[in-house]
Order: sequence, then structure tokens, then C-alpha cells
Amino acid sequence: MDAIQLYNTATRRKEALEPLDPQNVRMYLCGPTVYDRAHLGNARPVLVFDVLYRLLRHRYPQANVTYVRNFTDVDDRINETALKRREAGAEGALETLIRERSNETIQWYHEDMDALGALRPTHEPRATEYIAQMIAMCEDLIAKGHAYAAEGHVLFAVESYSEYGKLSGRSVDDMIAGARVEVAPYKRNPMDFVLWKPSDDELPGWDSPWGRGRPGWHIECSAMAAELLGDSFDIHGGGIDLQFPHHENEIAQSRCAGHGFAQIWMHNEMLQVEGKKMSKSLGNFFTVRDLLDQGVSGEVIRFVMLSTHYRKPMDWTEKKREEVEKCLLAWKKIIDEERDAVSAAFTGKAPPDEIIRALSEDLNTPQAIAELHKLAKSAKQDLEAKIALAEGLAFFGFDYRNDWSVAFGSSLDRILGAPIDLGPYEDMLFEARKKAKETKDFGEVDRITQLFLGAGLAVRVSPERVEMDFTEHFDPEKLDLLN
Ligand code: AMP
Ligand code: ZN
Repeated sequence: MDAIQLYNTATRRKEALEPLDPQNVRMYLCGPTVYDRAHLGNARPVLVFDVLYRLLRHRYPQANVTYVRNFTDVDDRINETALKRREAGAEGALETLIRERSNETIQWYHEDMDALGALRPTHEPRATEYIAQMIAMCEDLIAKGHAYAAEGHVLFAVESYSEYGKLSGRSVDDMIAGARVEVAPYKRNPMDFVLWKPSDDELPGWDSPWGRGRPGWHIECSAMAAELLGDSFDIHGGGIDLQFPHHENEIAQSRCAGHGFAQIWMHNEMLQVEGKKMSKSLGNFFTVRDLLDQGVSGEVIRFVMLSTHYRKPMDWTEKKREEVEKCLLAWKKIIDEERDAVSAAFTGKAPPDEIIRALSEDLNTPQAIAELHKLAKSAKQDLEAKIALAEGLAFFGFDYRNDWSVAFGSSLDRILGAPIDLGPYEDMLFEARKKAKETKDFGEVDRITQLFLGAGLAVRVSPERVEMDFTEHFDPEKLDLLN
């Protein structure tokens, strides 16, 4: 089997994945800060790396793949939500309210990502459960001359690491010139970043050699990755917005602590909405839950996301959502034509080779979806292709056995109105043909046949009957031209 090729942001080229230990293929993804519902953009890395996880589990035995995605549950934004709750009258210590908020957000996150068909990672560490490892790493970095303590803080000395800036292609001087860095009297260099900082009495804090405090964000990932994956592992992922400073800082900390750290760095591009950056002020900011509550199914969100390659910016549009809904409906109908025979052969574990080949080429999801289209085309009269389509869809997280009307009902109602019954259209064409055979004038038959085909219906004609079916190009509005 050919190796999986992945684009490595660190070397800026595609590389064959050669796991350090094929018995233990390891991947880390920076997870969410748990202060609020995940927005649609947050779902992009989850889905991109879910496809990679599925691909790795297929390529290497499932038990040989370890996937870690963390929860950042120490953060000022979480503290602020708890403070607001207390101001609004909530009872209990601030620390308890903070913990409640994190727990609640983690539960929402699970519900939402489960609905998108994302597999749960092997480990989902919470930063607060690895504080001892973070403190140990700070001590180690100080001992090795890469960090220093000052006024209750521990800072990483960027000048002590000659490769600082390599991942993002920046020099320390450029960074200082361009960045809005926090200038603080205790910093030796303005680019030095926080590994540990003091906490006031009411906020979460842990005892440390530098007083009561809490970790900086970057050290969390370095410590959790080392604890759960080892000093060196295969793949590290995240959104491109994390490349600098977060990932640059993770690399600096881990490499200076003597770890090999990640071999391949992968970054997904950002998601936009209708061509614009998602933002609350533009009114185009919405959460995964908002969409699910509107009746958009998780499968549709997933397919829309994966229809764009992860290294390209992706645009969420209503039009794409509608197209995907129609397309999945058409594919499901094709499988349902021989549902019993498909079910008898279906394993859910045998994706077609062409799909694996596409995904092995730097996770080419648009190509893999194009292969599904090809299968759907030939599946009309072909049981083998129907089975392959069902297996391919299963690999993509879409289960044809789910009840269609439940999964897609409300969103389809929105686009299609009441479910469309093709019976009257079949009768219409049958009657027109009967008449034309008597008058020998087939003009009207040709006109309406072309209209049905143009609306994306498949039309089969025999002397006894006319049969119609939906294709993935079905467009109900075009049927209005019949009148
Ligand atoms: P955060 O909770 O803000 O740290 O983000 C969690 C993950 O979502 C990170 O991997 C980010 O890179 C990613 N992310 C945030 N916004 C977007 C976006 N608009 N498009 C794609 N990924 C995003
Ligand atoms: Zn991280």
C-alpha cells in the first residue's frame, strides 16, 4: 500500500508519513478553550482531523493509532463567564462556577461534535489535570537555561532557541517590529512568552516554586502531548491561526526540553461565511448548535466542510448546504433501490480504494467526494457500485441506514416544501406518450421529457409505464416550467 502523503507546514512540502513506530501512530490536535459553544469555524479542524484519524485507523490497525485532543480549561474567558454568572446571582465559590462552566461547555462540545459524526479521540485531556507536568516542564526549561523566573512569572527566553520563528517563517526582529507584544518590565526580550503566571486568590491557581499561579496556554499542549504521546510523535494539527505564536511556542518549549516533538505539522485554513470572515459584528457568526437546531443535519455540515480541501479557505454558503442536502438525498435513494442486497453485503469497514487513494494524497477530500459522485452515477443499475457507495459514505461518516426523514426532514422541507411525489409527473409523461402514439406528434413528449431531465430527474420509459427518480442534480424549481 502506498504511503500517506501529507503537507508538512514545517518543511513546506508534501512528505510521506513514516510513523516513528508503526505500532503506535500518534497525533495531537489543539482542542477548544471551553468557555462557550463551538462556532462553525471550530468544527473545521475537528472534521479535517477526524478524516485523517479514520484514514490512519484504516491504514494501520485501529488499535495502533492514538489521537489526543485537549480541552483548555484554564483561561480568562472562562473566568469571565463565571464572574458574570455570579454578578447575575449564581451562588457558590468562583472556582466552582468556573468548573461548572467548563464541564457544561465540554458536554456541549461532545454533543455537537458527535452530531457531526466526529469520532471521539483516544484521549481528551483537560489542562487542569496536567498541572504537575507543566510545572515540571517549566523547572526543566529553567534548569536548561531556556526560561527564567521573574516576579511570580516564568518566561521562555526566545533568544535561547535559535530556531524560534522557523515554523511560521519569521525572525525574532520581524516579530518585535510587527507584533503587538506585551511589554513588561520583567521580560528580558519583548518576545519572551509566559510559561507560568501568578493567579489572584479568587481565581484558579496551583502552588508552584514561583508562588500560587497558573500555566500559560502554550505550555499546556507541550506538557499534555509529552505525557500522553511521548517526547516524539508523528502529527500535530490545528487551525492556521495557531501557527504563530501558539505552535511556534509549543515547538520552542518542547524542543528546548529535549523532546523531538511533532514530525509533521498540519494546519487547516479558516472558514468564512458567505465570503466574509465570521464575526459577531457582521451578524454572520453562528454556532454548530445554531445550525443543528435549524434542522441542518450533522451529515450535511460535515459534507459541506469536507467539500473544500483543508489547505484552502472554505466558504460556508446556503447554496452549498442546499446542494449537499439534495445530493445526499439522491445517493441514499440510489442505495435504497436495492437496500436489502446492500445491507446483506455492507460492512462499514471497506471503503473503496479510489477513496483511500484520494485521501492518502494530502487528505484530498474534494477528490474523494468526486469519487462518490462517480460511484453514484454507475450505481443506478449496478449493485456492486451501490455497495461501494454505501461503504464510501460510511467512511465519510454518513450511514445510509439512518432514518432519512429524521436526519434530514426539516431542512429538506425547507428547500423542497412538502416531500415531492413523482407519481403525477410519471402519469403526465405516460399520458402524453399515449396520445402522441395516436397523433404521431411527439413534440409535447420531447418538451416535457427535456424538462424533467433538466430538473435533474432520471426518466425510464417502457411500453407499460414511465418511472422517474431523483438524481443529485435534482432542482424542484425547474419543475415549475411545466405549467
Ligand atoms: P480556539 O478555541 O479559539 O482555540 O479554537 C479551536 C480550534 O478552532 C483551533 O484549532 C482554531 O485554529 C480553530 N478555528 C478557530 N476559528 C476558525 C475558523 N474560522 N476556521 C477554521 N478553524 C478555526
Ligand atoms: Zn496547542
